[in-house]
Amino acid sequence: MRHLAPYQTGIWLAEYINLRCQLCAVYRSTPQAQLLQNPSSSNARLFSQNSLLAENASHPLSSNYLFSSNHPLSSDRSFSTSIRKRFNSRFSSGLLCASCHSSLTWLPKPFEVDIAAGMTLTIQAATYYDYPMRQAIKAFKRHEDMTKLPLLLHAIRQLPRPHGCHHDNSVIVAMPTTDERLIKRGFDPVSILAAYLSKHWDIPLWQGIRRVDDTVSQQGLSRAERLTNLDNAFALIEPPPVKRLLLFDDVATTGASLQALASTLSIYPVPTPNANNKYHLFAYALAHGSQL
Ligand SMILES: [Zn+2]
Repeated sequence: MRHLAPYQTGIWLAEYINLRCQLCAVYRSTPQAQLLQNPSSSNARLFSQNSLLAENASHPLSSNYLFSSNHPLSSDRSFSTSIRKRFNSRFSSGLLCASCHSSLTWLPKPFEVDIAAGMTLTIQAATYYDYPMRQAIKAFKRHEDMTKLPLLLHAIRQLPRPHGCHHDNSVIVAMPTTDERLIKRGFDPVSILAAYLSKHWDIPLWQGIRRVDDTVSQQGLSRAERLTNLDNAFALIEPPPVKRLLLFDDVATTGASLQALASTLSIYPVPTPNANNKYHLFAYALAHGSQL
């Protein structure tokens, strides 16, 4: 039995009962499968050409890879995944209308940060930290405004699963929060979003790293200040179970938090030391913010 993601009932209501777009509330929402058949964003096409992380160079946003014959999922898992995908495509009304979807920029050009000698981390965001995503993320994080979750989930669904990564060889590492922040907020927004990314990619979450710092917020700091602020910010609870680690955060501005998380992970021995004795680290964010 699959675990339900937090607020799953509300998402089902938004997706299967409420037929209106979650952004404009005027037009009928469009099923995700139909939006994927017509990727309208120029950046989406650019991403396809670059094919950095795309699953399928000819159509990186396609979900058909789940059914490819060489996919290493077990037959039981393939069957349940297939049923779920068919159910979704048959009954889901989607979350945004085609007009609102095409008004946003999806998959901006990925950017890179250094994490160790000879190692860089590529960060791919679903969209920019701009209207309406900025307002939605703020309302969700600061006020636990669940009415914004469908829009955020729509953005998550635009992230193509990284090439070669699947349930058995990869885990998603959500940016951990401190106990103090968790108590103050009462919930952990990034872990909720990561749970939906886990469902979208069918890749499990791994929670073997925690945040040990209680530093001030990263907001308003320069890049150098952010990095200093993050020294020794993370501690491993247990070694990663696999080599492919997909880091996830809600907003990446300079990428300093993801960079520090990746640096911490990269210094630990890999689980199966063999030919390629390194972790494969990729990073994803809901939105890429510009540094003001
Ligand atoms: Zn709309």
